[in-house]
Amino acid sequence: MKLSIVAPFHNEEENVDEFFNRVLPIIRAESDSIEVVCVNDGSSDTTLAQLRGWREKEPVIRVVNLSRNFGKENALTAGLDHATGDVIIPMDSDLQDPPELIPQMIEKWREGYDVVYARRTVRNTDTLAKRMTAVWYYRLFNFIADRPIPDNTGDFRLMDKKVLGEVKKLGESARFMKGLFSWVGFRCTAVEYERPPRHDGKESLNFRNLWRLALDGITAFSTVPLKIWSYIGMGVAGIAFLYGLVIIFKTLILGIDVPGYASIMVIVLFLGGVQLLSLGVIGEYVGRIYLEVKKRPHYIVDPEDEQGSRR
Ligand code: UDP
Ligand code: MG
Repeated sequence: MKLSIVAPFHNEEENVDEFFNRVLPIIRAESDSIEVVCVNDGSSDTTLAQLRGWREKEPVIRVVNLSRNFGKENALTAGLDHATGDVIIPMDSDLQDPPELIPQMIEKWREGYDVVYARRTVRNTDTLAKRMTAVWYYRLFNFIADRPIPDNTGDFRLMDKKVLGEVKKLGESARFMKGLFSWVGFRCTAVEYERPPRHDGKESLNFRNLWRLALDGITAFSTVPLKIWSYIGMGVAGIAFLYGLVIIFKTLILGIDVPGYASIMVIVLFLGGVQLLSLGVIGEYVGRIYLEVKKRPHYIVDPEDEQGSRR
C-alpha cells in the first residue's frame, strides 16, 4: 500500500522541521512506500528553501511550488492532483491535524472504509467567536445544502484512491474541498481527536478569506438562497394584497385619509432593501458562473521543482 500525505504550506517556516520530524517516523512505520507532497502556496518566507532542503535529505518528499499564493483550497487541489498513493491523507502543515491519528485511520481503511475523517471533539484552541460562527455556519450549510458535510471535520481525512479519483473529476473553480469530499460519497467513518493549537506562526486564513470560503461553500452546494426570493416575494405580495383590501374598505367607509407618510416610507424602504438584498444574492451566483465559464486553471505550478516527479 502506497501512502501519500498532502500538505499545503503558506509561510510556515517555523513549522517545517517539526512537521517532518513528527510525520515521517509515523508514516514510515505504517508503510514501506510513502510520499509527502508538499505544496508551497506562494510563501514569502524561507518555507520553500526549507522544503527543498528536506527533499535533498528525504527523497520521499516532493515539492509542488505554486507560482503565487492561490489559497488553501487550490493549494490542496494541486497537492491532490500530484499524489500517487493508494491511500491519500491531506493535512495542515501547522500540526493542527495531529499525525498521531494516521495509524488509526489506516486501521479503519483496512477494515474496509473508503473515507476516514478526523472529527474534532473540542475546538478550545479557537476563539469563541470563531467557534460560534463555525457552528452556525455548518448548521445553515447542512440545512440548505443538497449534501451535508459531517460536523466538526476539516480537510484532515484519509481517502482511498478511488475516492480521490472521483474528487478530481469535479472541475469547478470554487474549490470548497470539504464539500467536494463529502459530495462524492463512498463508505465513510470517523476517528475523533482534540484539535491542538498551531505549533508556531500565525493563522493566515483571516476574516475576509473565511467569509469568501463560506460564501463559496454555500453557493457551490445550494441554490436555496436564489430560490427563496420567489417565496419571500409571494409572502410579501399576499400581505400587500390583504393590506390593499383593508385600505380600500377603510377609504370607502371612513372616507379619504391623507396622513400616512410614516407607513409609506417604512414600506418603500423595507421593500427597497429586500430587493437590493435579493439582487445581491443573484450577483453572488452570477459572479461565480462568470468565474466558472472562464475555466481558468485552479493553480499554476512552477515547473522548476517538477523534475521527473509527475509520473
Ligand atoms: N494555507 C495555504 N494557503 C493559504 C493559507 C493557508 O496553503 O493561502 C495552509 C497553511 O499553511 C496551513 C493550512 O492551509 O497548512 C491551514 O491554514 P491556517 O492554519 O492559517 O488556518 P486554520 O488552521 O484556521 O484552518
Ligand atoms: Mg491552522
